[in-house]
Amino acid sequence: MKQDVKSMTIEELAIALEEMGEPRFRSKQIFSWLHKGVKSFEEMSNLAKPLRKSLAEHFTITVPRVLRKQVSQKDGTVKYLWQMEDGNCVETVLMQYHHGNTVCISTEIGCSMGCKFCASTLGGLVRRLRPSEMLDQVIFTAQDSGLEISNIVLMGIGEPLDNYENVLRFLHIVNCQEGLGIGMRHISLSTCGLVDKIDRLAEEKLQLTLSISLHAPDDESRSAIMPINRKYSVQSLLEACQRYFVKTGRRISFEYTMIAGISDSPEQAQLLAKRLEGMQAHVNLIPLNAVKETGLKTSSRQSIGEFQKILEQHGITATVRRTLGSDIDASCGQLRRNYEKR
Ligand code: SAH
Repeated sequence: MKQDVKSMTIEELAIALEEMGEPRFRSKQIFSWLHKGVKSFEEMSNLAKPLRKSLAEHFTITVPRVLRKQVSQKDGTVKYLWQMEDGNCVETVLMQYHHGNTVCISTEIGCSMGCKFCASTLGGLVRRLRPSEMLDQVIFTAQDSGLEISNIVLMGIGEPLDNYENVLRFLHIVNCQEGLGIGMRHISLSTCGLVDKIDRLAEEKLQLTLSISLHAPDDESRSAIMPINRKYSVQSLLEACQRYFVKTGRRISFEYTMIAGISDSPEQAQLLAKRLEGMQAHVNLIPLNAVKETGLKTSSRQSIGEFQKILEQHGITATVRRTLGSDIDASCGQLRRNYEKR
């Protein structure tokens, strides 16, 4: 069995090379080529031909294919639909902000979490992505766009903490100086709230930003839209956030989708403010990107404004997220879903 070379850390690659009778330092050269997006060992022109051949006998290089590419006419956001080697598809979004170019990557093919408003979970979980397949989304988005990527958000299809080991390995590889060298402070990981995994992640003491998809402050409303809440209540989730903050010193950001009649009442704003009191939290209010199948509607501008005002009156900083790429199905799982339906 050949090894998936882009899922290996530089240390593991060095050991594998040593076992092949090669000097360890070659791992740096190979790592650097891989992160430039070469599609075969043949392209590694500073390596001797016999070594290139021997590498191809031991390892495989994953290469996704661009199946669809949509560019927003409104804001330049680009959405890619990639096809993996087994035929499955995932999405990646490239957003250009003042503070740099951000890629939003997928961590799983489909999702098993069942959130009622989300298109990614409608067909369930197909499989988890390997580290190489997460890395490829960054490498080939940079290559195709010609842009340097400075930030990564794990907010595409899938629940990152449901694919814990592979995501952690991806983070270490993408952070590695000999590769893309993207700093942990430039990476955000978003979760629907797997409390046991949040505690595990806290132990890693990474400097990344943890985002919690909260979406409702009370168990009744949250359980109605997010099945995970039946396992981990709002209270237990917020306690885990507190422990995470104490362990890592990193401020947590909360995602809160504004869904008409479900999550947007002034009473819910009051309760949210109360529950986040003293947490140094930042709240991102996200107008729901309506997915046809779900029947849910986005809140009015007015109720979003009022909600934000109540939070701020209680000393909680809240921003209303700009919706980018609304003309290109750029919200979680919509492009993949529309493609597969056809
Ligand atoms: N599974 C992870 C990361 C993927 S989703 C998580 O739950 O956090 C990234 C964010 O988009 C989450 O906050 C998710 O709740 C939100 N989201 C999903 N579908 C949406 C929609 N239709 N409109 C607005 N936000 C949505």
